[in-house]
Amino acid sequence: MNLLKLCAFTAAVGVLFGVAFPAISQSDAPAPAPAASAVPGGVYMLPLPAAVDSASYQGRRVLVYRRRALVGIPIDAAPGKHALSLKASTGTQIHRFTVAPKQYPEEHLTIANERMVHPTEASLVRIRSETERQLAQYRRFTMRTLDLTPFNQPVAGRISSVFGQRRVLNGQPRNPHSGLDLAADAGTPVQAPAPATVTMTGELYFNGKTLFLNHGQGLVTMYCHLSSIAVREGDAVARGQVVGQVGMTGRTTGPHLHWSVSLNGNRVDPIQIMAVLNAG
Ligand SMILES: [Zn+2]
Repeated sequence: MNLLKLCAFTAAVGVLFGVAFPAISQSDAPAPAPAASAVPGGVYMLPLPAAVDSASYQGRRVLVYRRRALVGIPIDAAPGKHALSLKASTGTQIHRFTVAPKQYPEEHLTIANERMVHPTEASLVRIRSETERQLAQYRRFTMRTLDLTPFNQPVAGRISSVFGQRRVLNGQPRNPHSGLDLAADAGTPVQAPAPATVTMTGELYFNGKTLFLNHGQGLVTMYCHLSSIAVREGDAVARGQVVGQVGMTGRTTGPHLHWSVSLNGNRVDPIQIMAVLNAG
């Protein structure tokens, strides 16, 4: 039963810039729609007043789509008051919102390959370098024409591990699960959820054959454990285009796709971002 797959060593670390906000004022923007949920690892959505040009959170620009700011909350965010900086031609306004606590389930897993739980020193050097490369992908903010609706699940497989699960590998606590695992037969096509640019492909220690898609304005998706990659860095891909095939490369106990979705540098629950974007 426990076909749970281990994957996606991507530090679930929200980088705090310690931005000093000016005097607090409350935005008069309407309440967010219910599909969004301001919890650690969730998405906060705020319809923007007409005068606002851009928004930022913890020092990073956030996605603005159809006049709404979509804010990725770090999975290790402290519950309580958080601030969104709204920039207009007339000045900057601070909008405060509450991040509610969320308890994610815990799972205990046994990995037969000890080197996937306790890598050698040489492997750790490689892993650190790969982690930096991946974080750099997530932190990219690029302007492009956004086409995010619908935002489709990349394979139709059964969910074998949800986002956010706190993981204990061979008795050792590890980072929470930073994506959604979809179990599917090896070779199952993986399709782009929406138009994007391929910004990185490679074979990584934990994640195996991996590719990154950049959908614009800090919305970045990652696909891991692939048996093969069907695109190249720099390619423009269309919604539904096959970008690779499901496999079990890297740290995994069976064929599945690990799918991570990131907003403003923070990994968020893929189920929630699909719900938010597909709600219209
Ligand atoms: Zn995974």
